Amino acid sequence: MTQAEKNPYSDDDFAKASEHLRLALSLLSGNRIPPSPLNFRVGYDYVAGKDEVLKTAFDEIAEQPGGVSTGRLWSLYTRFFEEDEQALETMRLELRRIVAEIQGEFQHSSGNLSNYADKLKRFAGILNVSSAPATMSAEIRNVIEDTRSMEKYQHQLDSQVSSILDEVVALRKELEQVKEESLIDALTGISNRKAFDATLERIFEEAREEQTPFSMMLADIDHFKKFNDTYGHLIGDKVLRFVGATLKRSVKGRDFAARFGGEEFAVILPQTELTGAGVLAEQIRKAISAGDLKDRRSDESYGKITVSIGIAQFYPGDLPNDLLGRADRALYLAKTQGRNRVEKSS
Ligand code: GH3
Ligand code: MG
Ligand code: MG
Repeated sequence: MTQAEKNPYSDDDFAKASEHLRLALSLLSGNRIPPSPLNFRVGYDYVAGKDEVLKTAFDEIAEQPGGVSTGRLWSLYTRFFEEDEQALETMRLELRRIVAEIQGEFQHSSGNLSNYADKLKRFAGILNVSSAPATMSAEIRNVIEDTRSMEKYQHQLDSQVSSILDEVVALRKELEQVKEESLIDALTGISNRKAFDATLERIFEEAREEQTPFSMMLADIDHFKKFNDTYGHLIGDKVLRFVGATLKRSVKGRDFAARFGGEEFAVILPQTELTGAGVLAEQIRKAISAGDLKDRRSDESYGKITVSIGIAQFYPGDLPNDLLGRADRALYLAKTQGRNRVEKSS
């Protein structure tokens, strides 16, 4: 990979980059965020429109209570830049080392091969004219020796090439693992927002092309702030894992559950109409409220955990955000109607 392909800013000429710099600084200072390098990189990519998903994530943060903060920008930074970059950079260096090794081997081997070919040529020349038996015999001995050492060298080369191949195969596996891990939410172990965005896009295309229905649900833990305030964030994290695991257990086949962000979860239900989504949402709501989370040591119950769920169905002509918006409005309705309930979008 050349530097030009890797550098996401190579298209920004002086005027464009200066404009983005000015906009990014005013975005950060408008939110009272210090323009440290990491904050600045998120702000720069936001104003430059480098990544739609980053832009949406940033806008969502800006709308949350408390708005944009250094802490929230840090989580965006690690989500969008850091994790993948470090792993990929290590792998890039490793692959470069292996390629250099292969190149070195082949240069060496082609040198040996052309030497050997020259010797054979000379031998053929000797065979073209009649020579004394002693000369012939000496030449034959030379060729046999050269052929043997060539054979030995060939074996060495074979085993070197096969160990290089093993290394490349191991690296490919590692790369796949990094790719998979970047789609998993570290806290709950279920799919993360990045995986959700990609899946939603894919199912959207499919529904559009094949004109099949599909639905989604957004679930949000009720009064979770109070729960955290009462029991602390670590127990709060346990609740998030419990909700994530319940969702994962409740969905089957192609249904896809993800942590949408914070204490919100989302499920995509391909080939499913709103009625079916309602039935599943109700099952999930019941399963969560039936759970009884306890302190392991004191056996004291943390009380009932409940979620509110909004469901919505895809309409032909929808954009992903239209569907998400309807599910979000349905979720809001479930909250205002008393929580621990399922509502659909009107
Ligand atoms: P509502 O019923 O209206 O949804 O009220 P709520 O308190 O659940 O909603 P609010 O948005 O006020 O609070 C969400 C809380 O979720 C605040 C935040 O501390 C907590 N939260 C978000 N992410 C995490 C996390 O990773 N771990 C823990 N423990 N808490 C989290
Ligand atoms: Mg919420
Ligand atoms: Mg909540």
